[in-house]
Amino acid sequence: MRAKILVFTDLDGSLLDHYTYRFDQAKPLLALLKQTHVPVIPVTSKTRAELSVLRGELDSDEPFIVENGAAVFMPAEYFDVPPSECIEVDGFYCAQFSKPRDYWLDLLAQQSDEFEGEFETFTALGVDGICASTGLSAEAARLANTREFSEPVKWRGSEQRKSLFVARLRAAGATVLQGGRFLHVTGACNKGKALQWLYQQYQSVTSSLMEERRCLTIAVGDGENDVDMLQVANCAVIIRSPVHEPPVIEHNNIYRTQQTGPEGWVEGVSWFLGASERPIEMNLIEYLRKKLRSHVNG
Ligand SMILES: [Mg+2]
Repeated sequence: MRAKILVFTDLDGSLLDHYTYRFDQAKPLLALLKQTHVPVIPVTSKTRAELSVLRGELDSDEPFIVENGAAVFMPAEYFDVPPSECIEVDGFYCAQFSKPRDYWLDLLAQQSDEFEGEFETFTALGVDGICASTGLSAEAARLANTREFSEPVKWRGSEQRKSLFVARLRAAGATVLQGGRFLHVTGACNKGKALQWLYQQYQSVTSSLMEERRCLTIAVGDGENDVDMLQVANCAVIIRSPVHEPPVIEHNNIYRTQQTGPEGWVEGVSWFLGASERPIEMNLIEYLRKKLRSHVNG
C-alpha cells in the first residue's frame, strides 16, 4: 500500500437519499472500504448528536466533521498521538472552528426587525417545525436541534431579499452557507478547512511512522456547502441532486454522477477507486483495484 486513501463525504443528498435518508445501495461498498481500511469520514451539516446515532447505523468508528466544518471529532484512541489544540469531550478529541450557537442566535435576533417574517431559525421552528420542513421524525428533529456551533435558518422571502440578508450576516462576521433545505449560519469555518485540518492529522501520524507516505483524498458532495471541501480534495465527486442544480466548481479531477443519493455515491466513489480509466493517481489506488473490480462489475 503506497498511499492512504481518505474518503470525505457529505451525508444528506450524497451518501443518504435526499428523501428517505437511507443508504442501502451504498452498504456493500461501505463494508468493502472498511475491510480495506479506507476511512469514510462524514462531513456534514448535521450535529454531533445526530452523528452519534448515524455512526452506529453506518458501522463507522472513524472521525467525523459536524455542522458544516465547525468542529472535527476524533475517537480518543484513533491517532497514536493526541491531536494538538483539541479539547476532550465524551471520549473524543474535538477541534472547534466556530463560536458557540448562542452567539449566532444573538446575531440573527438583530436581523429580525429588518427581515421580519422572512426567516425562521431552527430554534424558532422547534421540533414540530423542523419535522415539517425536513420530514424527520420527532426524535431525529430533536437531535438535529442539539446544535453546538451554528444555526440553520429557513428562508421564506424572495431570492433578492435573501442576498441582502446573507450580506448583512456576512458583514457581521458570520459565514452563511446554502444547504439542501436551510441557510447555515456559523463562524469562519467550512467543510474544506475542516477537511484540511483532519488531513494534516493523518499526514503527521503516518509520516511519523513511515517515510513519505501520502494520503489521497476523495470528497463527495451534492450542494453549495460542499464546494470548499470538493475544491481541496484530490478527487471530487458531485452527486446529482433530485431537487437542485449541481454546485458550480472548477476542479481538475472531477466526476459528476448520473445517479442520485447512495446509488450516485457508489457510482462516483467506484469511478475513482475501481474504474478502468482514471485521469490521475492511478498508482496510488492500485491496491484497491482488484478488490473493487468485482464490486463494480457486480
Ligand atoms: Mg448534501
